[in-house]
Amino acid sequence: MAEPSIFTRILQGDIPGEIVAETERVFAIRDIAPQAPVHLLVIPKTQEYRDVTELAAGDATLLAEMIALAKRLGREHADDGDFRLIFNTGAGAGQTVFHVHAHLLAGGLGEKSLV
Ligand code: 5GP
Repeated sequence: MAEPSIFTRILQGDIPGEIVAETERVFAIRDIAPQAPVHLLVIPKTQEYRDVTELAAGDATLLAEMIALAKRLGREHADDGDFRLIFNTGAGAGQTVFHVHAHLLAGGLGEKSLV
């Protein structure tokens, strides 16, 4: 059994972290180092998928559930409901936690900036 990821430990209440939304299989927290006025992490409760490519191949429905929760969070946290979703995939792309998660960014994003 793999060591629990930082996100699993937050979900289990072992370390602090406010869960801002939750469904049966997905939850969301605020990023500890926000890169935008709204910066949430949308995370499957299972940590069995390391990144979005593994998740898409293994459980595409769960990926769709993440995106559905992101849509709800956009409505709840962004003035216009619009948001950017980013999946860092691999260490070379900046991924540091290998429990798949989407960064939801909103509010005051530069129109042409990709991050
Ligand atoms: P990655 O770099 O893997 O795409 O994203 C991991 C994210 O998790 C980073 O943006 C980082 O700030 C966030 N993070 C790391 N540790 C914690 C923590 O203990 N609590 C919260 N809320 N976010 C964390």
